[in-house]
Amino acid sequence: MKIECFTFNMFSENTYVLYDDTLECVIIDPGCYEEEECNELKKFIADKKLKPVKLLYTHCHIDHVLGNHFVLSQYNIPAYCHSLEVPQFISVPAYAPMYGFNKVHIGEPPKLMLNEGDEISFGTTTLHCIFAPGHSPGSICFYNKKENVVIGGDVLFRMSIGRTDLPGGNHNLLLKNIREKLFTLPEDTTVYAGHMEPTTIGFEKKNNPYL
Ligand SMILES: [Zn+2]
Ligand SMILES: [Zn+2]
Repeated sequence: MKIECFTFNMFSENTYVLYDDTLECVIIDPGCYEEEECNELKKFIADKKLKPVKLLYTHCHIDHVLGNHFVLSQYNIPAYCHSLEVPQFISVPAYAPMYGFNKVHIGEPPKLMLNEGDEISFGTTTLHCIFAPGHSPGSICFYNKKENVVIGGDVLFRMSIGRTDLPGGNHNLLLKNIREKLFTLPEDTTVYAGHMEPTTIGFEKKNNPYL
């Protein structure tokens, strides 16, 4: 499996494209907002001759969903999130202007729901869903055991953790989920987070000041 990371919008959000030798791919958290950002994502997929098959959300805060309509209209693929993230998605257009996004058109919320333990596949690759709320009520991390990677969203960052002051946030629950569901993964698991550079479980166990 290969992982491509794009950093989009004023929140420096990481959008991921995961693909394997079959050239099927999934798009995770498309935060592309400006036309150039949407074109960058589209060009990468076209240049690599990838076939997008699923759109996945770790959670549905504004910075992770800005490219939803673009991806759906471009590729017409099914979108997945945890059910508790649908209300989060629906609330985005109302608060978008507060953050200076005045031309938000995010389209339809995901229709397919993810739960703890679900397996999502593309090509010959399988992603295992880990339910880890706390930053957002329906946060999901996508774990690939074979490659030893987790696409974690805004749960755990290098030397930091997701903020918990937004609606549905819960600090103690976030810490509990990181300790019980992420810190129990192998130490050399690479965490590709929703913001900033990747890290590893082992590094965070030793150095994360919040845990
Ligand atoms: Zn978030
Ligand atoms: Zn974020």
